[in-house]
Amino acid sequence: MQQGVIFVFSSFDFMAKYKFFLLVLLCLVLMKVAKAQLFSRGDSLRGQITSLRACYDVLQYQIDVKFAYLDGVRVKDTTAYPIEGAVKFVAVNMQDYKRLQIDLFAHFIIDSIVSNGSQLAFTREVNAVFVDFSHVQKKGGKQEFKVFYRGNLIIAKRAPWDGGFIFTTDSAKNPWIGVACEGFGASSWWPCKDHLSDEPDSGVVLNIHIPQKSGLMAVGNGQLTSRKTKDDWEIFTWEVKNPINTYNVSVNIGDYRHYSDVYVSTDGESRQLDYFVLAYQLDVAKSHFKQVVPMLQCFERVFGPYAFWQDGYKLVETPYWGMEHQSAIAYGNNYRNNKWGFDFIIIHESAHEWWGNSVSVADHGDMWIHEGFTTYAEAIYLACENDRSIANRYLLEQRERIALKQPMVGPYDVNFTDTDTDVYFKGAWMLHTMRNSLNNDSLFFSYLKTCYQQFYKQVTNTHEMLDFWMLKMGENYRPAWEHYLYKTQLPVLTWEKRVRRKKAKWYYKYEEVGDDFYLPIALTAGQLIKPKTAWQVYEGDFDAALQTALNQQYLLEIRVRGSL
Ligand SMILES: [Zn+2]
Repeated sequence: MQQGVIFVFSSFDFMAKYKFFLLVLLCLVLMKVAKAQLFSRGDSLRGQITSLRACYDVLQYQIDVKFAYLDGVRVKDTTAYPIEGAVKFVAVNMQDYKRLQIDLFAHFIIDSIVSNGSQLAFTREVNAVFVDFSHVQKKGGKQEFKVFYRGNLIIAKRAPWDGGFIFTTDSAKNPWIGVACEGFGASSWWPCKDHLSDEPDSGVVLNIHIPQKSGLMAVGNGQLTSRKTKDDWEIFTWEVKNPINTYNVSVNIGDYRHYSDVYVSTDGESRQLDYFVLAYQLDVAKSHFKQVVPMLQCFERVFGPYAFWQDGYKLVETPYWGMEHQSAIAYGNNYRNNKWGFDFIIIHESAHEWWGNSVSVADHGDMWIHEGFTTYAEAIYLACENDRSIANRYLLEQRERIALKQPMVGPYDVNFTDTDTDVYFKGAWMLHTMRNSLNNDSLFFSYLKTCYQQFYKQVTNTHEMLDFWMLKMGENYRPAWEHYLYKTQLPVLTWEKRVRRKKAKWYYKYEEVGDDFYLPIALTAGQLIKPKTAWQVYEGDFDAALQTALNQQYLLEIRVRGSL
């Protein structure tokens, strides 16, 4: 009987487990189908580092691109702008291989791919191009080939957000051209290995060809090393010596005027700052761009030296809002300061030279490292220029924009660019929270500086960044960092008032977190509490002032049970 009962129960147990297993399996299959629908073959070809891409490491790109039509009317009314160009890849072989992958949007025609004077065979799938060599390319050997291509540039509808070229005229009716392609991809206008993990170690040579008769100027990244005429063309050669993300390579064509300023860097060297602005904006630019010097002083002092003096620091006026184009920052904010007294585009895009261009990520899924540190840099700049209380007010405005709809770390290997603004504002607030929890600014800023040094001119990821901060702050902080990065629900700090014999006492604990969640809270009275997931008694009064103070310093959801 007893055995029978046991048998009945275990049979029931087995069936329930079996059904549960089937249900889980069904969910997994459905999730996989949903994911497969979310990301295409093209996303994987672009986002994944297969052996066809890992087999070579790019050392340098030499880009030639011809902009044939610079007639004002034609530029402004264009819906399709044809270019022709050639890109030479200089790379080192990381493996033996006979085939490699490069990227170029499918609508471009590739006339030929040439290596050592002979044409290479190639096939195409979506925006990937597979190049075949007749012999095995040996590991350690140097690779050089040149891709000749032509086709229509993609016109951006909402630059810099959707990506593509902008063709317009300035107020004096001169043609004005720019490009912004972060996420969308540099392969939307030039062939390259279009993946964040491979920055050309020795940079880029960018030859921009424009009709000589246009009288316009072409501005690219780095230094102008030559300006010469050939037949009817004027060729501007811009050179970047440092590693650079492909999306940062930029073309600007317009009626530019150049002026420069001098800045004494933290290393004591006098550095030249360069500005390329529309001819009629020269006077306003000279006065408005004065904020660049104190900004550079602040960022160099707080983060460490500017990484790209060899390539220069430069602002280039653009027909779109802005972009962190390395050593040629796109500026299109119409010389306007915000209510905080600074020009958002100058400060934000320049901060990217530290966080995004020097410290870069290998996959768009880790974009919070570019945007979170950069957004926090805005508050740091305000604190440099004013004081911490103004920076705190600025941060509180940013906090309002935290959406909590998707995790900060996105999926890898699919060129995921569908991030919302949490990589900016929640990213900044996670750093702010950690700083306040540490409750020692000199320590926090020494870690921040070391972090910049550690990843200086390198490509990193969330995993390495977390390991760095755990080494500094202590391993017990890991669950809190991970909570902010991977979960959408904020950690909850609950306060509960209990009254016994007419005497009130406040208790506190964390909720919606794991038991190992560790985030000490420094209270205004200089008191440090270490909430856990079990109740602890608070030796004081929890009041509205304390609640406000906590909201200014910590990204937590504060729940209060009982009246204040
Ligand atoms: Zn940004």
